[in-house]
Amino acid sequence: MTSAQRPAPKFPLPLERIVGAGAKPAATRTAASGVLRPQALMQQAAADAARRVVPSGLGLDSVEVRRRLVQRLQSKGLRDAGVIGAMLAVPRDRFVDTALVNQAYEDTSLPIGHGQTISKPSVVARMLELLMQGAAARHDGSLGRVLEVGTGCGYQAAVLAQLARDVISVERVRALHDKARAHLLALREMRVRLVYGDGRIGHAPGAPYRSIIAAAGGDAMPQAWLDQLAVGGRLVAPVQIEGGRQQLVVVDRDEQGVRRSVHDAVHFVPLKMGID
Ligand code: SAH
Repeated sequence: MTSAQRPAPKFPLPLERIVGAGAKPAATRTAASGVLRPQALMQQAAADAARRVVPSGLGLDSVEVRRRLVQRLQSKGLRDAGVIGAMLAVPRDRFVDTALVNQAYEDTSLPIGHGQTISKPSVVARMLELLMQGAAARHDGSLGRVLEVGTGCGYQAAVLAQLARDVISVERVRALHDKARAHLLALREMRVRLVYGDGRIGHAPGAPYRSIIAAAGGDAMPQAWLDQLAVGGRLVAPVQIEGGRQQLVVVDRDEQGVRRSVHDAVHFVPLKMGID
């Protein structure tokens, strides 16, 4: 086979190709034809060098770091197999600034600019687990159509997409809306539709939603969210309860109406009015 016939490498390269594990040396292939081409020699040298490199950057070992984070979340009570799979699937390091990459797999919220933060993984997991326990989601194991209020950097939207038919995510800060678009495009995540606007009015064109989730907390639940919730659907949002404390509030809609329950104490950024 000549180099012209050899198929072009596909990007991103699979991990084995990057670290050279189990790869057949290029020179072996060329030796069969009795000719050692310079290009093959260079490939051989690169493969040898790659084999000697101990993978340490997040680009190479983020799957392992992610697995450890998810194990920590499991030890804190995460049970839902779908949510575990979704958290394992999304590289959180791709949603934070380079300077913060080393902290991407700690269970903490991190700044994403404009005074906002990427949500804490254990809180994302908890909210998704609550959504998966809604009547319709439990019935067929999918979040169906999701409305997310507060796209931020797009991380939670990408996790939601693993469990949903599609996700419509609304963000009021233009720069963050654009940032999330870039992050999701880089991962070729096509199930998320991003909307720039005030999420307090939900997004009527996409309604009704089987799942609604808010990543910012107000002192009351906007009526539009309740109106846009499907029968059998569930909504999870941080809401300020008495004394200014925030708690996760779950709303379920059935044929009879809506039912509300109050869960964990949380600390989310405020749900703001209008757009920036
Ligand atoms: N889910 C996000 C977390 C973002 S933090 C992530 O994974 O990164 C909450 C976001 O809600 C912020 O980006 C903030 O700008 C946004 N937000 C606050 N009020 C909003 C509103 N009324 N409509 C839409 N987005 C809002």
